[in-house]
Amino acid sequence: MKKSHWAEPYKIKMVEPLRKTSREERKKLIEDAGFNTFQLKSADVYIDLLTDSGTSAMSDRQWAGLMMGDEAYSGSRNFYHLETVVQEYYGYKYVVPTHQGRGAEHLIARLLIRPGMYVPGNMYFTTTRLHQELAGGNFTDVITDEAHDPDSDFPFKGNIDLQKLEDIIRKAGAANIAYLSLATTVNMAGGQPISLENMKQVRKLTQQHGIRIIHDMARVAENAFMIQQHEAGYADRTVASIVKEICSLTDGAVMSGKKDALVNIGGFLALNDEGLYEEAKNLVIVYEGMHTYGGLAGRDMEAMAIGITESLEEAHIAARVYQVHYLGNLLKEAGIPVLNPIGTHGVFLNARSFLPHIPQTHFPAQALTVALYEAGGVRTVERGIVSAGRDKETGDHHYPSLELVRLAIPRRVYTLSHMDVVADAIIETYENRDSIPGLAFTMEPKYLRFFQARFRQLAPEPALTTP
Ligand SMILES: *Cc1c(COP(=O)(O)O)cnc(C)c1O
Repeated sequence: MKKSHWAEPYKIKMVEPLRKTSREERKKLIEDAGFNTFQLKSADVYIDLLTDSGTSAMSDRQWAGLMMGDEAYSGSRNFYHLETVVQEYYGYKYVVPTHQGRGAEHLIARLLIRPGMYVPGNMYFTTTRLHQELAGGNFTDVITDEAHDPDSDFPFKGNIDLQKLEDIIRKAGAANIAYLSLATTVNMAGGQPISLENMKQVRKLTQQHGIRIIHDMARVAENAFMIQQHEAGYADRTVASIVKEICSLTDGAVMSGKKDALVNIGGFLALNDEGLYEEAKNLVIVYEGMHTYGGLAGRDMEAMAIGITESLEEAHIAARVYQVHYLGNLLKEAGIPVLNPIGTHGVFLNARSFLPHIPQTHFPAQALTVALYEAGGVRTVERGIVSAGRDKETGDHHYPSLELVRLAIPRRVYTLSHMDVVADAIIETYENRDSIPGLAFTMEPKYLRFFQARFRQLAPEPALTTP
């Protein structure tokens, strides 16, 4: 793809200086951080690919929107603007703002899950599964097998396996399925999209059983772009119209505005069922705030309303995804083991292949995040056994098939030169990979352990003799 087809559709009006550190400084800093990139200070990071969540650059229009904040306690005009935008672009009837995506996950889990119920989904997400479990539910993975294979080139690894879905419905009984949790682009699978064809089949099956679909729509625009690019029959459709079609196949949504919607904070729960909306409106007051602000300032709702419209512009979404692919292709050309196909919000390194000498119980992906920070001041995140947490019944680790390091690209923040620097740091690390040691916990928190855990480095692993 020629760069003239997707060069950044904006120019830069304000800059934030970056700070470089030396390798010696970084060795000390990451040790002080307990070998956990979440525990580093942002000021000590050169290029920050920890997450694309809340880290995007807002536009001049969004900043202008902040000045239009109506900070009335209730009935803020920014709420009505947000509501109108959600109705117009996503097609959902009712909107309850929340402070971010997990606020909405909490509400829907409390409203629809009774202890012992099942919640099938296309792969787990950390906060999503935890809210389901805290409400007494059992998450069941029904994603297609290809999603668990980092080398498969299947373009729609977010698809749901209909047989797996039917099996859990038969096993649990439809009445014991709280809802189907359907994510557009599957974060933990490597930012992989679901096809509309698959969604239509899933809709048919769940409707036969009277099962609701709750849509995790954090990156629905990115998913729609991949449908436009790769699904037969959608090449001439706008991303906006594909987004609306996706939403029309679901009954409600949880949204983290910190992803697609280009804001630093914000989210919402969207619903079509009036009765459920009444309950959500009541419950949100307990945990977030009145149903016309849900823990957000008026200005935050305004920025999110504007961000949603910008997220659906063709030039924006093409530049966003192709920047990610630019980095992915640099790495592939250098022979670095990356997850295929390249995702939409980040490039995912396959830590099992990168560090074959480190067993999964010594946290290879976490060890790789440490090495990448030491090499280039690049902050990344583990998406493997540490993120997967423990089984709530047995107490043992979950052992995910994917042991990944995510390089999440914030939207509209970094340039292609930054992507080149990141690629160089990774290539250098790959050349010295044999000396990277595994890790062990020194402190393991109970919930979402990856955020706050601390580790120590183990003695060097015995080198594998390469044939
Ligand atoms: C970020 C994210 C969430 C949670 O949203 P927060 O805004 O971080 O609370 C839920 N699902 C997916 C797929 C996400 O990426």
